[in-house]
Amino acid sequence: MATFEEYLVNQQNNDGVQFTWNMWPHSRIDSQRLVVPLTCFFTPLKERPSTEVSQPPLEYDPVLCQKASCKAILNPLCVVDFRAKIWMCPFCNNRNPFPAHYAAIAENNQPPELYPQFTTIEYTLRKATTMSPIFVFVVDTCMTTEELKSLKECLQTALSLLPADALVGLITFGRMVQLHELNTQGISRSYVFK
Ligand SMILES: [Zn+2]
Repeated sequence: MATFEEYLVNQQNNDGVQFTWNMWPHSRIDSQRLVVPLTCFFTPLKERPSTEVSQPPLEYDPVLCQKASCKAILNPLCVVDFRAKIWMCPFCNNRNPFPAHYAAIAENNQPPELYPQFTTIEYTLRKATTMSPIFVFVVDTCMTTEELKSLKECLQTALSLLPADALVGLITFGRMVQLHELNTQGISRSYVFK
């Protein structure tokens, strides 16, 4: 039996997700008392070690929580009632019936998205409308002038390699965080946050 620490390390390696705390604060007051805010570091498209079990992308759409304001995705952490063919959403506690084509679901016949080792899984969406790819550049500006100059050049090279229909966003952060409004009119505007 792995310890909780081992479990966390495994999950970090597998999912590219790391939290500052491994428990949710129980109340608003607990949350306000946290020295470091509850934060999640996520590495999208994390490359996993080749020794790990890998799965091909699922060639169907994910099953979503039916509560309109939730739409969480069926995953190995959901509690499933195989007899009633219902799954509990861990985010909003909604009880969701499985779609008709999951009728054969049973304890010994589970879809891959419920396998405990597949806490990260890829879907090839069938119905989704294809949107332009979106790239958001998040730039730490705490560096020397020369470094910043070479970083700007790298960013310009990166921009030149993006697909023509790509949508681009830019966030820079130093003492403050700036969300830049990118336009072609040559007027630079940004939203500044602490
Ligand atoms: Zn939900």
